[in-house]
Amino acid sequence: MSTNPKRIYLSPPHLGEHERKFVEEVFESNWIAPCGPNQEAFEKEMAEYVGAAGAVALSSGTAAIHLALRLCGVGPGDTVFCSSLTFIGSATPIRFLGAEPVFIDSEPSSWNISPQALERALKEAGHQDRVPKAVIAVNLYGQNADMEAIQKACDKYRVPVIEDAAESLGATYRGKASGTLGRFGVYSFNGNKIITTSGGGMLVSQDTAALDKARYWATQARDPVLHYEHSELGYNYRMSNVLAAIGRGQLKVLDERIAQRRAVFDRYRNALEGQHGVRFMPEAAFGTSTRWLTVLTLDSGSPVTPQDIIAALDRENIEARPVWKPLHLQPVFKGCAYHPHADNCNFSEDVFGRGLCLPSGSSLSETDQDRIIHIVQSVLKRD
Ligand SMILES: *Cc1c(COP(=O)(O)O)cnc(C)c1O
Repeated sequence: MSTNPKRIYLSPPHLGEHERKFVEEVFESNWIAPCGPNQEAFEKEMAEYVGAAGAVALSSGTAAIHLALRLCGVGPGDTVFCSSLTFIGSATPIRFLGAEPVFIDSEPSSWNISPQALERALKEAGHQDRVPKAVIAVNLYGQNADMEAIQKACDKYRVPVIEDAAESLGATYRGKASGTLGRFGVYSFNGNKIITTSGGGMLVSQDTAALDKARYWATQARDPVLHYEHSELGYNYRMSNVLAAIGRGQLKVLDERIAQRRAVFDRYRNALEGQHGVRFMPEAAFGTSTRWLTVLTLDSGSPVTPQDIIAALDRENIEARPVWKPLHLQPVFKGCAYHPHADNCNFSEDVFGRGLCLPSGSSLSETDQDRIIHIVQSVLKRD
């Protein structure tokens, strides 16, 4: 039995007075309708924050990826390249549209889509006349992918890049906001993300005509006439006005949340790095990570496994998780093609076996963090 009654979660929501005030205004004005003024305001504020021409507020990040793929013209029989080391939501929309994913490994320096594996895969696809309709580059755990190299490889074959920035809102790449470097960028406001609306997503782009189309599809593809008329199939994908109100409050504290997550990361690293083969996810030189989650790895020869540490923390009612299981290993994607980083480096499988995510919430107290560090140290010292 646990001695600590209050569970420490991996990445819990962290809300304050701004959010409450915005939501109270919604109640007072009775804008509980699906549409309302906060939707538009949240879109505008997000677009301004990241420096995009426009944004569409949606019910989830997965919905945003679905719409981005459809905007790229993805349909039955097509292929889409996607990072393998990621959450399933990055790739399921490929199948929603009847297309097939091809998975690309990550590079060790950023843990994101390997430009060299991508180049190889594109070249092979070019020879077979099977150039993908789009590439989904995921920005993992708060860090951007090497977008210049990715864009260069994709430009050669005129393939649009969708940036899955669900985990990297607030990160930068060569001074630009994460999520604004591809043709489309996708954010998530799921409950575990750096800021949340309990559930939600955002699609951003420089192409405002494409965003208008996405907004149309997201509202059941209602043609602009008074009676209900539909000439295309759409979805019910809009973010509600109430949730957009929470989002506006959360956006005000995003910079603070990034600083808090980075401080959590630094505290873990200062206490644990180098001990018994512990290393931390690197920060690539091309940008700043938000350290959405603190992820550490154990040396391949280590007698301790991530599961040992996860189990020890769980006994104290503390949540920790393995690194994402690569999508090419998921039963639902059995048989899909996969391109490793190099002949002698299958990075996503390697890091899946050796990595774990520690509680990283921006509201995690120093006392709780010290407890976590202590438990991790005690497992490491057992050997
Ligand atoms: C959370 C997440 C998504 C999906 O976002 P939802 O809002 O939960 O649909 C997609 N990709 C990545 C990398 C994520 O972490």
